[in-house]
Amino acid sequence: MAKLEEYIPIVGKPVIDELKLLGQKLQGKVIQNINSTAVGGGVAEILNRMIPLLKELEVDARWDVIKGGEQFFEVTKKFHNALHGKHEDIDRRDFDIFTETSQRNAAELNTYGDIVFVHDPQPVMLVNKRSGNKWVWRCHIDVSNPDQKVWKFLRDFVVKYDSAVFSAPSFTQELPIRQFLIAPSIDPLSDKNKEIPQQAIDSVMEKYKIPKDKPIITQISRFDRLKDPIGVIEAYKKVKKYVDCRLILAGGTATDDPEGMAVLDEVREKSKADADIHILLLPQNDIEVNALQRGSTVIIQKSLKEGFGLTVAEALWKGKPVVASNVGGIPLQIKNKYSGMLCYSVDGAAYAIKQLLNSPQYARKLGENGKEHIRNNFLLTRHIRDYMLLFLSLYHGEDIVYL
Ligand code: UDP
Repeated sequence: MAKLEEYIPIVGKPVIDELKLLGQKLQGKVIQNINSTAVGGGVAEILNRMIPLLKELEVDARWDVIKGGEQFFEVTKKFHNALHGKHEDIDRRDFDIFTETSQRNAAELNTYGDIVFVHDPQPVMLVNKRSGNKWVWRCHIDVSNPDQKVWKFLRDFVVKYDSAVFSAPSFTQELPIRQFLIAPSIDPLSDKNKEIPQQAIDSVMEKYKIPKDKPIITQISRFDRLKDPIGVIEAYKKVKKYVDCRLILAGGTATDDPEGMAVLDEVREKSKADADIHILLLPQNDIEVNALQRGSTVIIQKSLKEGFGLTVAEALWKGKPVVASNVGGIPLQIKNKYSGMLCYSVDGAAYAIKQLLNSPQYARKLGENGKEHIRNNFLLTRHIRDYMLLFLSLYHGEDIVYL
């Protein structure tokens, strides 16, 4: 794991000095993160990098994961989709399953933190255990247009927290508690994002039998309908009529996402007649994701709904031209035709990809701009700073200046 000092050439010394100062002010406080999976998805991705760096800043940050069975994660996946505004059949039984598992977790999990930092809806009910410590709910989802039944149910717990954190102003709901807006981030020095030699890229391409004879379009995402892998294939097919190219759809599964294998089957079915489509079920391996992103000509993220969309930041940081849907946190990262291309449909995605494949210089410029935008706004150091300021503000009066 990279040390703090190694970030200085990337973000500058003043940034690191400020982190050290804030870290000192938090000494003696235990920050307990709680989420629902240690592996897979953006939240686990961030926590895996953030906890060690906070520790290096001598902040006592810890991470616990709630337990849940298949039924619980089926329900939380439905909740996740419903909060994104997708229709789901949710009935009393689903709420009962959620409540029962939450109660079991509440009984088993010690909420020892001075600050209990709960990520996303799965562990939200733990707040019933609060006793004198500070509780913050970190919502990574865009809940601006949720299914009301699910939101009302969760809201009753959310309002018991001291504060809530959302990734962007447009993701929020009105709440009677303090809200903070803190965008997520990527770690430029993680295995997923650090510079790697061409040889490492080539060997991953060879491992997955992907020749370098044609431009490569890639989407890296869990196999999830909201990531619209079928739409990606349709866009690729439209591009392919004009520019010969390959498509990589690569993703693993997350332990809290039961739908993955079914979606993977649909994707395989849809692509089986075309040898230039490479469907990869990835092991959890950050170097491989890094290599696939770096080895691609254009990165696509054609999500129908998105939280922040870390994969976009990862690709931009690598200087790649990105075509991505104008949803969730993606427009924070991509200013259309400046740091990437935003799209609204299969046709729009195909048009943008074609344009980038036909104009490599333009594509390179978008990638360069994208990299600087990520450097200035979405690196881990900025994220840690925001969180530390938030934690400190919990110990101040209501007159504190909001982030
Ligand atoms: N990811 C990964 N392997 C995969 C698929 C995704 O490591 O097979 C990573 C991806 O690089 C990113 C995170 O998982 O860091 C996904 O975060 P994002 O915000 O894009 O989407 P989420 O899965 O949280 O909806």
